[in-house]
Amino acid sequence: MIYHGARASDNVTSAPRRLGCCFTKEGTEMPTATVTPRKESAQPKALPAPNSDFYQLAETLDPEELALVKQVRAFLEAKVAPIINKYWAEDAFPFELLPALKELNIGGVGLTGYGCRGGSAKLFGYVAMELARVDPSFCTFWGVHNGLAMGSIYFDGSEEQKQKWLPPMARMEQIGCFGLTEPLVGSGSGGGLTTTAKREGDTWILNGQKKWIGNSPWCDLSVIWARDLGDNQVKGFIVENKTTPGFSVEKMEHKVALRVVQNGLITLTDCRVPEANRLQAGNSFRDTARVLRMTRYMVGWAATGCQMGAYENALSYAQRRLQFGKPIASFQMMQDLLAKMLANVTACQCLMLRLAQMADEDKQQDHHASLAKAFTTSRMRETVGWARELLGANGILLDYNVARFMADSEALYSYEGTLQMQNLIVGKAVTGFSAFV
Ligand SMILES: Cc1cc2nc3c(=O)[nH]c(=O)nc-3n(C[C@H](O)[C@H](O)[C@H](O)COP(=O)(O)OP(=O)(O)OC[C@H]3O[C@@H](n4cnc5c(N)ncnc54)[C@H](O)[C@@H]3O)c2cc1C
Repeated sequence: MIYHGARASDNVTSAPRRLGCCFTKEGTEMPTATVTPRKESAQPKALPAPNSDFYQLAETLDPEELALVKQVRAFLEAKVAPIINKYWAEDAFPFELLPALKELNIGGVGLTGYGCRGGSAKLFGYVAMELARVDPSFCTFWGVHNGLAMGSIYFDGSEEQKQKWLPPMARMEQIGCFGLTEPLVGSGSGGGLTTTAKREGDTWILNGQKKWIGNSPWCDLSVIWARDLGDNQVKGFIVENKTTPGFSVEKMEHKVALRVVQNGLITLTDCRVPEANRLQAGNSFRDTARVLRMTRYMVGWAATGCQMGAYENALSYAQRRLQFGKPIASFQMMQDLLAKMLANVTACQCLMLRLAQMADEDKQQDHHASLAKAFTTSRMRETVGWARELLGANGILLDYNVARFMADSEALYSYEGTLQMQNLIVGKAVTGFSAFV
């Protein structure tokens, strides 16, 4: 099996183009495709390279931000793209990439101090978009660690806790996960967590299960959200996976989306955690929601990146795939699909850019992030579906780099709160009525 590119027998005119490109600010030349016109004597025609930055969003980055984004893209194209389909097929995480990823220094992008990379909310989002453009799983792994786990400690930890936990996490020496969802409680986790925390002196005893927890089968520490039996409020606890008795994880099998991300079912059986590991500023679900606001914002960017990857690969394929003696990109109905995909991508990019400005001005509220998550993930489902349609049968083969985006988009659509939950949050904000139950 080959995992990238087309076979010679597929009636595709040339090897697939490496999808670099489009940092037009510095005039980087984009790779071009060619197609030979029907007249034997004519020169091959240079075709525009796929570029999903149609409205030149990259121009809004400052030089330092642009440099990091370019580094991230280069890493993904050189190291991740060539091997990721293989890992996806094998339902395995590419640990071989971790040393190079650490060197990229993107731990703690968007967070200030404590050894974090720092930078704006826009940079945080842009990095997520770039990661998802090549691999939504890789973006999710990073988002769980950088956003959910580090974000929980950053927003809800005491100064001492931040000093202790964040620097090694920023260096990616310690990887984290975030345990909120349970086997019986997903959307309703705000009011219905069944995992309990009981205080005994300076120790908390946790009991319950957490399902779907990304990175948990192999990571170092888990932020576990549990209901305090004392005051019935949701509280966060840092659990050291490998050394805490009563903590166990079973890897979840048979996922058909984000197969590179390792999700786990965590079981807590009289799991004893010191008071020093309780997030000192996380005293109710409102404090959990503060983290989710940031990560839903991130998923909006990831959903945009996922569409960019599908669109660029679909366009590249359309330029090379011949039917009736012509590239399918020359057919009107194929151009209609491509224009609709690009419109979705561009709409999402512009929406996320404005939300980034609001986040950087500390104006983003829960309902703003929810609207973005709902809109971008809905557009993403359309876009990846159109990309898959454009490829015909090859659209369902991993080898052609569209099927993976299509499958992975289903997870992005549901995690961090479903479409219905996001729209209920928006609905409450605009009507003044809560319609959750
Ligand atoms: C790949 C993946 C990775 C994940 N990673 C993590 C992780 O790292 N940590 C973590 O804590 N969780 C994680 N999750 C869990 C995820 O956040 C939940 O799956 C999600 O919140 C939805 O919960 P649920 O699947 O239990 O669906 P349910 O809550 O059972 O919902 C089922 C359906 O009912 C609808 N629904 C529910 N309530 C209402 C209502 N009041 N009104 C209208 N419709 C309603 C929902 O919208 C949905 O369509 C992950 C999930 C996936 C798929």
